[in-house]
Amino acid sequence: MDTEARSTRLRKLGLVPTIQRMAVLEFLEENHTHPTAEEVYQAVRIRFPSIAKATVYNVLDALKKAGAIRELTIAREAARYDYNTRSHPHFLCRICGNLYDVDLPCPMRPGDEILGHRVESVQTYLYGVCSQCRKNHDKDKNKSKSKAHRNTANATGRDNAGTP
Ligand SMILES: [Zn+2]
Ligand SMILES: [Zn+2]
Repeated sequence: MDTEARSTRLRKLGLVPTIQRMAVLEFLEENHTHPTAEEVYQAVRIRFPSIAKATVYNVLDALKKAGAIRELTIAREAARYDYNTRSHPHFLCRICGNLYDVDLPCPMRPGDEILGHRVESVQTYLYGVCSQCRKNHDKDKNKSKSKAHRNTANATGRDNAGTP
């Protein structure tokens, strides 16, 4: 999205396209890592050294309220921000803290009804260990404990044997 389109988008959402709002929106548009407010602030500060932290937090809040971005409250420590406002599930790695988009169909959408309740927001969160951390863990295990590795191999063998 270019500057003109971004500014039009903000106006349509009822927001005045200030430099700060444009900068934050552009950063989220280009970084799909679901950054925290602090991470957004650190990144925007590189381009706008005089920007105050409170300004970035206020901008995120305004963008969220206008529906330009989505706030994810999956991690207890800090909210994360998503440029993608469509309902989509997320996977949080408990080791590296990375938050991944997951392509998974969801049976409910905003506006749907269930047991007489009306759904307004759908947030599906999955927790675990991401593929990268699993790979790193396996590498460490192979390096340090060959015994542990043998046990894993045995367990795998048993599983395979049990499969018809
Ligand atoms: Zn991870
Ligand atoms: Zn996402």
